[in-house]
Amino acid sequence: MTIGGEMPKKVLPTREDFKEIEDYLKRHGFESLEPEKLSRERAYRLVPPRRIDGRETPFVYKDKGLEAWVWTSWLRNENRARENDPAWTIIVQSNTLRYSREPIKRTLNFKKTLMNWAWIIWRRVSGRPTCKECGFLMEISYKHGVVGARFWKCGNIRCHASGKPARLDWDFNMPPKAKKMLEARRKAKKKYREKRRAQGKDPFAARKNRKRWTKVNKY
Ligand SMILES: [Zn+2]
Repeated sequence: MTIGGEMPKKVLPTREDFKEIEDYLKRHGFESLEPEKLSRERAYRLVPPRRIDGRETPFVYKDKGLEAWVWTSWLRNENRARENDPAWTIIVQSNTLRYSREPIKRTLNFKKTLMNWAWIIWRRVSGRPTCKECGFLMEISYKHGVVGARFWKCGNIRCHASGKPARLDWDFNMPPKAKKMLEARRKAKKKYREKRRAQGKDPFAARKNRKRWTKVNKY
């Protein structure tokens, strides 16, 4: 596992790799957005923080009011991967980006890594919890003071006997296999940040310098 700052060798996915990724996503209920469908989806579209050359086919899984999006960097019409571009797994709600994993570099383990993280966001969306106090679906909230951390929250306090918002751990409803993957990644990230701190460098530089996704209302 490599975390920002290191430069693993680029290995672009092949047509076969992409086919495998596509089959995997479709088995999990993701729908590919073909160019003719994109016009309908434009209102919901978030533009990735990078230059777009060629038309990419994104995949989306919609459930419980959330959308899991996977951008593979594969250009279907040209039958090739975009030359300089990572892949992305994000969660969107009502046209708003609610969660984005760090971009996934195309390296030797790209196919497996992308499928794993697509599976993680699929599980997060399909496992969106219901509030125990009021029965509403819970919202993705940001943890203050902890970069990138999330939790599930229900702020429907008028219907809560406690009169307080309800909270659940971000990994609530995640199966053991997912928790294991997430723990391994968090551990690696922690180690990387400690190393950066020891070197007197900003451990969050990559995250801060990364360009953001933007919402587009008009084309
Ligand atoms: Zn509630």
